[in-house]
Amino acid sequence: MNASRALSIYVSEAFKTGRAHERAEVSNMVSKRLQEIPASGTIAISNLVSQMKSEGVDIVSFSMGEPDFTTPENIIDACCDSLHRGFTHYTPSMGIPELRKAIADMTRTNNNVPCDASNVLVTPCKQAIFMTMLAYIDPGDEVILADPSWVSYEACVRLAGGVPVYVPTRFEDNFVLDPALVEAAITPKTKMIILNTPSNPTGAVFPADVLKQIADIAMKHNIKVFSDEIYEAIVYEGKHTSIASFPGMFENTIIVSGLSKSYAMTGWRLGWAVAPKEDIANINKLQSHSISCCVSFTQEAAVEAITGPQDAKVEMVREFRKRRDLALDLISEIPGMECNVPNGAFYLFPKYSADMPSAKLAEVLLKEGHVAVTPGTAFGPAGEGHFRISYAASEEQIREGLGRIKKTLAQL
Ligand code: GLU
Repeated sequence: MNASRALSIYVSEAFKTGRAHERAEVSNMVSKRLQEIPASGTIAISNLVSQMKSEGVDIVSFSMGEPDFTTPENIIDACCDSLHRGFTHYTPSMGIPELRKAIADMTRTNNNVPCDASNVLVTPCKQAIFMTMLAYIDPGDEVILADPSWVSYEACVRLAGGVPVYVPTRFEDNFVLDPALVEAAITPKTKMIILNTPSNPTGAVFPADVLKQIADIAMKHNIKVFSDEIYEAIVYEGKHTSIASFPGMFENTIIVSGLSKSYAMTGWRLGWAVAPKEDIANINKLQSHSISCCVSFTQEAAVEAITGPQDAKVEMVREFRKRRDLALDLISEIPGMECNVPNGAFYLFPKYSADMPSAKLAEVLLKEGHVAVTPGTAFGPAGEGHFRISYAASEEQIREGLGRIKKTLAQL
């Protein structure tokens, strides 16, 4: 299939309507559960970009949330050593003890979460999300999440039979969740609140007082919080707070995080869940029936990532900040585009004034401007009128890509 055909099928199937279960055309053989969800929008665009590039089209990609840096050398060396030592077999399903301890120590020290190695399950972050929803959500259970939110939360909730309940966030509030709106969304069916700070797709960093209010609400209503903290190390202003750090809240929280974003290790698929022991045992039941354990030699390399020198990580964050500032400067010169200043992660979620749905605009930008962005509606209804830019790209690509966006918007 040629690239533009693939794109129009993707756009029309994935984003023609607002609701996930109406998006995909699938055969009757497929389970009802699968019929509830579209393929991942972020992954679909990234696959498409790879295909177009392989066909020789010169694309600037701001689509995938993935650092362009190589994994730091000390981590690669530790992985090679592990392989050469023959550490190539199954590990305990919860992960190797040294790594579980390293993750717990880091989470306790950096985020003030009262955990130890027994509270850690080593698992890819996305796998942790998937398994947690299967472990805790029954058909009809409601799960509250920010609108916009990263695409796969809604999909995992739906796969488990749950009902995603979006709570809108606002550009004017830097997309920080309003605790009062969270509380107003609670019903007797509410089972869980999903938080993601720093946020994908908005880069919002939720301040401690907001998280404290949400913690109080969750405890008052006896609702579990699922806290995705994968961007915890990528904060430019303010500071990352884990909701599990508030008194009594760790007992009520499942944290997920990982190495992908802060150590440029997306391809390693290595992350973790940190939670009360009972929750870890529940989630591990699913791990034991699915992936068994994470890749052995990547776990040894992860110990080096967490306990070895951190300067490469610090340097990458410094670089992301420079790129954010550059991208914001360039956007401020584009008529019809406006962006808030996000405090973390590596995403911008600008508004645009063109009279066009975000899926259509993303299509036009890719087909005519040869620049890939993710439509705002991939992340929920409040994403209409926005698109996501991942600025984890080189300065040169940022200049070129935003130049192409400016030119394409001017021609609309
Ligand atoms: N989380 C990244 C993104 O939003 C990677 C792709 C994905 O897992 O969705 O682009």
